Amino acid sequence: MQSYEAPDNLLTDRVLLVTGAGDGIGRVAAKTLAAHGATVVLLGRVLGKLEAVYDEIVAAGHPTPAILTLDLSMAGLHECQQVAEVIENTFGRLDGVLHNAAVLGEITPLEMYDPDTWDFVMKINLRAPFVLTQALLPLLKQAADASVVMTSSSVGRRARAFWGAYAISKCGIEGMVQMLSDELANVSNIRVNAINPGATRTNMRAHAYPGENPATVTTPEEIMPLYLYLLGPDSVGITGQSFDAQPPKASA
Ligand code: NDP
Repeated sequence: MQSYEAPDNLLTDRVLLVTGAGDGIGRVAAKTLAAHGATVVLLGRVLGKLEAVYDEIVAAGHPTPAILTLDLSMAGLHECQQVAEVIENTFGRLDGVLHNAAVLGEITPLEMYDPDTWDFVMKINLRAPFVLTQALLPLLKQAADASVVMTSSSVGRRARAFWGAYAISKCGIEGMVQMLSDELANVSNIRVNAINPGATRTNMRAHAYPGENPATVTTPEEIMPLYLYLLGPDSVGITGQSFDAQPPKASA
């Protein structure tokens, strides 16, 4: 699915939520989904960044998006239920979620890892996708074929030394995709899958690999075929799987 070719109208009439939509892969995903017809709910913590994405989508003539500011490090069930309520009241439907927001935390041995940083990383990378999905399930269940996409990493498949809470959170994401897809398989039309973006040119990648020349790293635009495939109707029936958006390399 790394070479999937999506028609321009693939996502017409669909409402999709993207977390971390203000920067990096999430920003490009939001614009790409909108370019294929989706109405995108842009969720993030910095209003200015979300407004910039909003303006680009509107200027390109794509469906008008919506903005929801939320700091996922502080998002409990109440805040996530409010997200669900706003989406229901505004659009009356939700066809998919891309859980993309994450933070790197520290790259350091567990022996020295700061427990508060651990909690912070876990809240954003693992707890927020769980609670937000829980709050959105009633709405997702009403869709004809809803897609939940969670973002993993190569260290979510095999935790490597020094990757700390980030790696453990991504191992948790892989587990959550397996568990949730099983739980929903026979009782809903919701499919749940994971994407490992692979090494991708963003602030996170630059932070994790400061010595790397960014020009040598794949751009977010190049990994979009898999995002379109999993969030669009061509992946109906595919659930519980973890996909690579590009051929594997060392990545965050
Ligand atoms: P970036 O750091 O570039 O972007 C992360 C996004 O998450 C930003 O929009 C950021 O918002 C948002 N975010 C972070 N913390 C919060 C929070 N507390 N509340 C709301 N939003 C928040 O990372 P990437 O684009 O590189 O990563 C996207 C996903 O891909 C992540 O899940 C990452 O783990 C995964 N990934 C990335 C790889 C890569 O090489 N880039 C490789 C493997 C996996 P803000 O702009 O406000 O900081």
